[in-house]
Amino acid sequence: MTTLGQFAFVNPLHRLKHWNPQTRKRVDCWHNRGKECFLCNKGAAQIHDYTYGIYISKDNEVKYMSVNLSTHSHFQRIFSALFDDNINPCDTVFEFTKKQITNFDGKIMNGYDLVKTDQEMFVAEIFRPSPLSPNQNKIRKFRWAVPEELINKIVKHDGKPFNLIDLFLLLKDKAPRLQDKTAKSYAVKLLENGVLDIRKAKEYRH
Ligand SMILES: [Zn+2]
Repeated sequence: MTTLGQFAFVNPLHRLKHWNPQTRKRVDCWHNRGKECFLCNKGAAQIHDYTYGIYISKDNEVKYMSVNLSTHSHFQRIFSALFDDNINPCDTVFEFTKKQITNFDGKIMNGYDLVKTDQEMFVAEIFRPSPLSPNQNKIRKFRWAVPEELINKIVKHDGKPFNLIDLFLLLKDKAPRLQDKTAKSYAVKLLENGVLDIRKAKEYRH
């Protein structure tokens, strides 16, 4: 079984779980929250659960995917190889495949493998949770200095060279009712050394 996905962030949420044999469900380990955990007390093993957010289409909706420690380590190795090649793993659409993974002590586990594809990313960086946020599942407070709807229409030009006039004309083309003065101020805001820099559409509050 194969599916396509793009990561919303590289650091997953880490949680400790137990397998409850009575209910046949995964349940939270309460120990880590400073509470009495009856399954820990019974000697049940803790399970490491890593929750990643992924996009599976262009509709900008994060889906959550829980993986085990072996798969998590496997993902992180792939990410770090990509970072070494100056590729942001979050800008990449991967093919996810179910696979047997050998963990650090040689045990074979069920997991997932990732293969980088050349497919265009589903969701551009500007629309993803901020990597600077301590909790990447919450989006840092920001305001759109240039309206999100307009950014949506020009995001495919991100990183391309523009002069002020051409960018102004592009903005007017995408939003004909925009006032010239406003369009010009947006163009000035979005240009960085002659290149369209979409990230500048967001202003973060501190
Ligand atoms: Zn526990």
